Amino acid sequence: MSVTALEVLHNTFGFTAFRGQQEPVIQHLLDGGDALVLMPTGGGKSLCYQVPALTRPGTAIVVSPLIALMEDQVRSLKQVGVRVGCLNSAMLPQDQRQTKHDLMRGGLDLLYVAPERLLLPQMMEMLEQITISLFAIDEAHCVSQWGHDFRPEYLQLAILGQRFPGVSRVALTATADSRTQREIIDRLALNDAKSFIGSFDRPNIFYRISQKRQAKQQLHAFILNDHPRESGIVYCLSRKKVEELADWLNNHGIRALPYHAGLPAAQRSQNQQMFHHEEGLIMVATVAFGMGVDKPDVRFVAHMDLPRSIEAYYQETGRAGRDGLPATAWLAYGLQDVIILGQMLSQSNAEASIRNVERQKLQAMLAFCEISGCRRQALLAYFDEAMDEPCGHCDLCAEPVATWDATVAAQKALSNVYRTGERFGVTHLVDVLMGKENTRVREKGHEKVSTFGIGRELSQKQWRSVYRQLVARGFLSVTEEHGGLFLTEQSRSLLRGDEVLLLRRDRYDVQETKKTKDTRSRIARSVDIRSEDEPLWNALREVRRVLAKDQRIAPYMIFHDSTLREMVLHRPASLGDMELISGVGQRKLLSYGDDFLTAIRLFEEVAVSARDDENVTVLS
Ligand code: ADP
Ligand code: ZN
Repeated sequence: MSVTALEVLHNTFGFTAFRGQQEPVIQHLLDGGDALVLMPTGGGKSLCYQVPALTRPGTAIVVSPLIALMEDQVRSLKQVGVRVGCLNSAMLPQDQRQTKHDLMRGGLDLLYVAPERLLLPQMMEMLEQITISLFAIDEAHCVSQWGHDFRPEYLQLAILGQRFPGVSRVALTATADSRTQREIIDRLALNDAKSFIGSFDRPNIFYRISQKRQAKQQLHAFILNDHPRESGIVYCLSRKKVEELADWLNNHGIRALPYHAGLPAAQRSQNQQMFHHEEGLIMVATVAFGMGVDKPDVRFVAHMDLPRSIEAYYQETGRAGRDGLPATAWLAYGLQDVIILGQMLSQSNAEASIRNVERQKLQAMLAFCEISGCRRQALLAYFDEAMDEPCGHCDLCAEPVATWDATVAAQKALSNVYRTGERFGVTHLVDVLMGKENTRVREKGHEKVSTFGIGRELSQKQWRSVYRQLVARGFLSVTEEHGGLFLTEQSRSLLRGDEVLLLRRDRYDVQETKKTKDTRSRIARSVDIRSEDEPLWNALREVRRVLAKDQRIAPYMIFHDSTLREMVLHRPASLGDMELISGVGQRKLLSYGDDFLTAIRLFEEVAVSARDDENVTVLS
């Protein structure tokens, strides 16, 4: 008897159809081929190997670099009734023995294993004695020595092809660039592998980038307005800032935990655990909090500092909305960020050539912040993916920015930099332009330069904006040591008047403080629950919370928000109805179907009697 891939998708996972490239990938693996799968975070990579694993005879071996990630996958798969185990160094010896025993007697459909375990001679010998359905190498970009996630053991995984000829191998990653793709193919000896490259668009993420003014207050307003009591990640550059901000949020009524590499390991893992299992908790973190995050219901990722490259921005923001429901990528940045990052670069021990590449990447990120067209188009273009129309779902599509002819202003600003010796920071430069005769200006004798006081037509804010944008567009550079500005090659043509320069008009009263009439809680709004359905939505979440607590697992492992949302919309009244809800497979139907049906029934009864009461009042 053999089950088909579609049956597995329906019965085990409770989904109706494959997404994107899933079907061709699965077919290719079932036909015995090797594959390289590139899909963005949340694109559905896991099913690409889980479905073949459950369709073919034998055990699928999944190489996974992080213990936390591995354990989550195992718990989630157990919830849908899959026979699955894992082997890693954090397990007790007896548990490891049990898993090996299960493996050898053919009792596992999938085995998750850390690369260093897999490569042990004893493990290899065991695998030679059993039937292997396929090898899946997750987070395959870990073979890349250039990336942040390099894992030396990944380099040795090439031997799988030699030791197990004829067993399909699939490498999966969300890291897009072509160099990494080539490295994966070379280093894993996947020469005959077929590449499956999905679109890197994350349509459910709304991109919003604002100028930093009072960053903490801006963040606070954003959370309260757009994502109150929802899970989110806030990235900061330094450990100190992480701790301060977490405290500040807690003092301002928003529950937050800190996470950075300097915290004791026990506290880090406890905070990570809490973030995972509780709802409505915010993690304030350095980028050290990264790859292990596969919580599907992270509703926003906020950056309090400029990410160092567009790749980093894409990867970090990609941790929002893995479940496909609406999510926000929010960033507040200012010129100060550029100066700090520049200083960090200058202090790094990296070779000059690497530092140069990093500087260019930072410049690209900065330019991305200052564009006036669609964010998504620009982001995808950076990854060589064309998008014909503006997306309609980013800050610049939703509220286009006005531009103004800043040619003359830019010329004034640039010659001011030149006249004062190309080594002063923005505050001083603006003082000179505006003709402020303060102590520092007099000390430097700058009340005598020809640009003194030639810029009274603009406000201080406007001049700062001009300087910021000139840096972002590459007309000015920042000295790494003191944050002083100096001219670049590019500034010449602007100074000569050969070029017209349009700059963005900054918005100072942004939507962050805007009030809406909508009375729904924002969580209901963000997953699009009608206000009359909100009580039911809350009731179902409560059922889920209690079930999860009993088993000490994360609520999303019971059902994702998207599944609860469907229940709210369709109000299943029987197990038969329930089975049709996306995300409800056979096992979960048996385990939890009744609990949720009961909650829905109770809710409907209450609603009916409330309506009757109303009718009575009207009639009498
Ligand atoms: P990735 O590993 O690529 O980041 P996942 O495999 O974790 O993504 O899948 C992301 C989410 O999409 C999960 O919640 C998963 O259950 C859901 N998903 C994947 N494939 C499908 C599908 N065919 N239909 C419905 N939901 C799916
Ligand atoms: Zn857009």
